[in-house]
Amino acid sequence: MPHDLPKAYDPTAIEDHWAEYWVREKLFAQPTPTEEESKDGESSFTILLPPPNVTGNLHMGHMFEHTESDILIRWHRMRGDRVLWIPGTDHAGIATQMLVERQITSEGTTRHQMGRERFVERVWEWRRHYGGAILGQMKRLGASVDWDREYFTMDERLSVAVREAFVRLYEQGLIYRGAYIVNWCPRCQTAISDLEVVYDEHKGHLWEIRYPVIGDDGKDTDEFLTVATTRPETMLGDVAVAVHPDDERYKHLHGKKLRLPLMGREIPVITDEWVSPEFGTGAVKVTPAHDPNDFALGQRHDLPSINVMDDTAHINAEGGVYAGLDRFVARKKIVADLEEMSLLAGIKDHVNNVGHCDRCKTVVEPRLSLQWFVKIQPLADKAIAAVKEGHIKFTPEMYAKTYLNWMENIHDWCISRQLWWGHRIPAWHCAACHKTTVAREDPTKCSHCGSEKLTQSTDVLDTWFSSGLLPVSVFGWPNITAENRADFDAFYPTSLLVTGFDILFFWVARMIMLGCWFSTDVPMKDGSERPLSKSVPYREVYIHALVRDANREKMSKTKGNVVDPIEIVKQYGTDAVRFTLASMASPGTDIAFNVARTEGYRAFANKIWNAARFIFMNIDRAAEVGIKGPFEALREHGKSSLINLPMVGGDGLPIEDRWIVAMLYKTAGQVNEALENYRFDEAANEIYQFFWGSFCDWYLEIVKLRLNFSPAPSREELMRRGPTIEEERTLEINSQGFGALGVLVFVFEASLRLLSPFMPFLTEELWHAIFDGKPPVRSIALSRFPRPQGTANGAEPIFAEMELLQTLIVEVRALRKEIGVEERAVVPAEVRSNEELKRIITANLAIVERLARVSEVRFVDAISPSLAKHSTNAFDVAVVYERKIDVAAERDKLTKEIAKLEKITANSERQLNNPGFTAKAPPHIVEGLKKQRDDAQQLLDKLRRDLDALPPA
Ligand SMILES: [Zn+2]
Ligand SMILES: [Zn+2]
Repeated sequence: MPHDLPKAYDPTAIEDHWAEYWVREKLFAQPTPTEEESKDGESSFTILLPPPNVTGNLHMGHMFEHTESDILIRWHRMRGDRVLWIPGTDHAGIATQMLVERQITSEGTTRHQMGRERFVERVWEWRRHYGGAILGQMKRLGASVDWDREYFTMDERLSVAVREAFVRLYEQGLIYRGAYIVNWCPRCQTAISDLEVVYDEHKGHLWEIRYPVIGDDGKDTDEFLTVATTRPETMLGDVAVAVHPDDERYKHLHGKKLRLPLMGREIPVITDEWVSPEFGTGAVKVTPAHDPNDFALGQRHDLPSINVMDDTAHINAEGGVYAGLDRFVARKKIVADLEEMSLLAGIKDHVNNVGHCDRCKTVVEPRLSLQWFVKIQPLADKAIAAVKEGHIKFTPEMYAKTYLNWMENIHDWCISRQLWWGHRIPAWHCAACHKTTVAREDPTKCSHCGSEKLTQSTDVLDTWFSSGLLPVSVFGWPNITAENRADFDAFYPTSLLVTGFDILFFWVARMIMLGCWFSTDVPMKDGSERPLSKSVPYREVYIHALVRDANREKMSKTKGNVVDPIEIVKQYGTDAVRFTLASMASPGTDIAFNVARTEGYRAFANKIWNAARFIFMNIDRAAEVGIKGPFEALREHGKSSLINLPMVGGDGLPIEDRWIVAMLYKTAGQVNEALENYRFDEAANEIYQFFWGSFCDWYLEIVKLRLNFSPAPSREELMRRGPTIEEERTLEINSQGFGALGVLVFVFEASLRLLSPFMPFLTEELWHAIFDGKPPVRSIALSRFPRPQGTANGAEPIFAEMELLQTLIVEVRALRKEIGVEERAVVPAEVRSNEELKRIITANLAIVERLARVSEVRFVDAISPSLAKHSTNAFDVAVVYERKIDVAAERDKLTKEIAKLEKITANSERQLNNPGFTAKAPPHIVEGLKKQRDDAQQLLDKLRRDLDALPPA
């Protein structure tokens, strides 16, 4: 029988099974809606999964993000929305290229030896074998995404979108190629975005270098102008020295020339307001090709740019005798040479911020290069309006400000990367006319002069360019026609983006820019122009918090405090880990992940498992005497409308039934409300309190009173001959059991649905068991989420009554403990209360008697003075307890204990009186022995007194 559950809850066994089932059965697939279905776009709930890097492995941050998304997705699905969660992976240009490069290096070759084509083929091969491991992990963890819609950012379909977007922006004059100072990583040999540079404080130096002033006669004078720099090697590319126009110290040098040391060329002294007279010597060397500020200075003063380094940050031919040296080697040599020439005025310690490549940690070299850029206006303005006009809402709200602040200060976006892995830029250089051809189809001829001497740009596009297009490209842009627009109509704009703060600018902002720009391509279904409110890629952005370690420290490999979710899942099960994360997740609050909590939620899962076993055992007991009612009824009910709780609120029902149903509705209301506000923590805690507290600790205990089943003759037989008095009693008892079992099963089944988004595996297993393996729908995830219903209103008196009974029971239990009543003893209680409470207690006497182990309740005007009492606003209560003693047994017990203690004291005594022992034994042993003897002696005295006090037999 399927509901014959194993005794122990073993998450691994059930989770593997269901994870596989969900994928195999395609339970979460959301096919393209039909014409009819897509009319009602409002009821869709769509999330685009932030695509993890194809090289990635699942970490705690992912697991947290996926848990939150999955809870929302499952909840919406169970509320009847048309739900779609789209998975995919990102080709991750730099990360993937680095990984494969490392592989081929270990094989003794390089990508340059290999050549571009073979290298790219090799990356694809890697991807076929190992790519997307993280999606496999997501499958195992039960993320309810639509696997049929899985994408890879380099897929043909998505690549078409990337190409169209590039060409379109180029045609619109929004993509241009220009010389610009970029952050260059000499290891990765590519430009990297500002966002990919991490700054570290570095203890370095400020070198002061003397540049000789050239006299009017063209010869060097004895005067020097001293400049300060943190990167002396860049001086090889100096083209000027700048001072502030009002700086009195240098006024006489305006218009003069200097001799650039080591290189010998003449460079002008220029004046610019930007120079700060306070920094260093107040004179700055100007190297436009190696510093963004100098580049701007160079532009203003029409100065040339001399790039002195190659792609690997070695000095190039422009660097004279230093050509071929690595930048840091050159630095040392240059400083030494200057010193020898007495041109080094000083070296000062200096702490500066040094930029490193986020991927490989190499020091970034600001460097002039020719790159492709997206002209950020008017894209940014549209993206600003989308948020300002409220078409996109941020949670927590403060991120809207962060976003706007960044957007309002945004620079043109450098989109070219000097990598081999990625979307190659569709631009061709003509050797004949030197013009550029940008095209949707690979051209054979120059679009300007018709020459066939074309070479394609070797650059690829920034990974974020393709992922920024995802919200439109996954639904078919740019090839949307009247026939294939159903997906776009149904799912765009998506409902929600759940992501981390770290990619707010990288990805979130760029999706908004590109989404708002390109979705206007697709007019509304009625042919009207797409308004901004429908152009946005999503209506809401939920920025989740960070998962930190138990001490609130950020997890990092260096600190060694990284918690591997897969390991924790192996130990406690996915459900317990998910519940832990959910129970701590509220907007804007970081999570201090603590395994102790997971252990607690594993116990919670166990509790639910045991409750199920208890219920199933009673179903079987009932079945044995021929009662199949509640179970069959549930199945019938389930088949019909799935699935809301029947109205169990009738006055005829016992208080505990009315109470637990009302509690369930109340909890359902609270959980729905909490999830609407992203209060995962509140939702999880409400369910926990309900399931463990109300349902298991109270309701199950109370209802046990009624779960009695006895064999009775069949209905037919009784109809024929009429029951005896005895049989009538049996029937009455069975009917009570039947009623209790009914409510029990209904409430339990609904509770599983309430819990399902949080603990999908456990609930799936138990839910199938309830229906004996023949559930009304294929998964609990496709059933309906409990909603609050009518009975919740008007339930206040029930809550109040039940609370009084609970308080009374809790107080009696506390009293029993205080007085030392044996666990099993059943004792009378005295209660002083008003008439109302008297009525409630009397009506529910059996509950109080059973749960508080009370033999009778004596209503009194005042508690007997000799009794210890507890008082509340509503009542005083005391336990009447007279210790009854079996004198003979007690005498026997005491005599035995006394004999045992006498032996112990005698032994200690003997050892302590032995001088041979006390002389040799360490002092703490002797002390310990003395203490043991004294303690035993004391206890012995007490027991002897007790024995004497016993009445004669
Ligand atoms: Zn790098
Ligand atoms: Zn040409």
